[in-house]
Amino acid sequence: MNDSSIPAPERRARVNPNRIDLELLNGAVDIHIHHAPDLYARIQDPIELAEDAKAAGMRAICIKRHNFPTAGLAALTRKIVPDFDVFGSMACNRQVGGVNPLAVEAAIKYGIRQLWMPTIDSANHSRVTGSVGQHGRGLTIKGGISEYAIKQPPIELLDANGRIGPELEEVIRLVADADIILNLGHTSFREMVTVAQEAKAKGVRRIVCDHPFFLKLTVEQTIEIANLGVTINYTAGEILPRWWRASMSEFSDAIRRVGVARCVISSDCGQLHNPPMVEALRMTCQLLLEDEFTADEVRSLIQTTPAALLYP
Ligand SMILES: [Zn+2]
Repeated sequence: MNDSSIPAPERRARVNPNRIDLELLNGAVDIHIHHAPDLYARIQDPIELAEDAKAAGMRAICIKRHNFPTAGLAALTRKIVPDFDVFGSMACNRQVGGVNPLAVEAAIKYGIRQLWMPTIDSANHSRVTGSVGQHGRGLTIKGGISEYAIKQPPIELLDANGRIGPELEEVIRLVADADIILNLGHTSFREMVTVAQEAKAKGVRRIVCDHPFFLKLTVEQTIEIANLGVTINYTAGEILPRWWRASMSEFSDAIRRVGVARCVISSDCGQLHNPPMVEALRMTCQLLLEDEFTADEVRSLIQTTPAALLYP
């Protein structure tokens, strides 16, 4: 029997009834987690992630690298860690040719469930973080990058008239056909709005905007994006010390204003300066409970909505 057909409650690990934080991890889905091996040092590989997640009673993870597709690793991890769902993804950064329909088509055939628009190689990433290809302190590429790589221009999704090009149109068509998640990556507010509108018009059903605080979107801009039918993914990374982009009360307030039903939470962890995924998710659940989110609301953020996005 395929594991995804087992309803989440049946896979629950036994937990202390006073530990709602742990109970919320039972059936949790992390749609955004980084892993080794990578260009950057990472705290866990997909097997370690899957074993930890499964032990906590989690249901699924979607593994992410900025540079290469992860569907092959996801398939092998499923084999090594049975009865737990690991999904693959790809990010349209320069190592796969940017917004490259050929790479996207192949990755979809490999089984990815999420496609990121450019992240670290997005022109907007350099505006937000001051660097392309890395994140400055805390996420630098081992051995640096070559002169050749440094000279590559960052990726802009819109032309001078504010329109998307034929490659991106084809990529959107492929994503719509495959019915996978289109993640808006580290692109600008203007790029996100344009791509989300195009994607909706072409029949993409699952669109996600990651870590709005990391991207320095205002809550008003985030709500505008959500109004286009985009799910907002608030990440533990935004409230953790290295990239601390929001206080916990700002984080909670933003989720309230956007609306629980239009948000998910994920870890975006894997960096050496952050806790391992399961602990990052547990902390985030507990902090939300302390900010008066109900257990059902947190369950919606970490279980129901992310599962609906990720599962075919
Ligand atoms: Zn990430």
